[in-house]
Amino acid sequence: MAIRNIREFGDSVLTKISKEIKEVDRKLLILIDDMLDTMYESYGVGLAAPQVGVLKRVAVIDVSEEGDEPIILINPVILEVDGEQTGDEGCLSLPGKVGTVTRPNYVKVKAYNEKMEEYVIEGTELLARALCHEIDHLNGVLYTDKLMGELRATMDTEEV
Ligand code: ZN
Repeated sequence: MAIRNIREFGDSVLTKISKEIKEVDRKLLILIDDMLDTMYESYGVGLAAPQVGVLKRVAVIDVSEEGDEPIILINPVILEVDGEQTGDEGCLSLPGKVGTVTRPNYVKVKAYNEKMEEYVIEGTELLARALCHEIDHLNGVLYTDKLMGELRATMDTEEV
């Protein structure tokens, strides 16, 4: 287990498109473990590989209260969106900042787990927001591209 350095806004790795994963090897499993450690250490609810400098289509999310398994997303694709939510969003790559972003209120995503088994996950509210935010990271898109109004300073928004 290891904590990786989180890349911050301005780092060009955050605006690049990540590559599809063809197979799960030991290196990828270590990356996923490290991403989980890094996310929990930073009190985030999600983290995408480009945020630790790796341009691979993998992200982790944990919006649950204690005890649930985190969500591992390999090659995630949005299948369906519905509704709308407008609210504050934060990102571990922009620590201490928050902005208002409109996202779908429901998303259905197809992805692979760490055994490379395909699955479908549905999310609403914070989970839907986190899924969209992480998939955006894999496409080199930051929430600052979707802001309504200005970035603000904060101490207490969930960062993904
Ligand atoms: Zn983020």
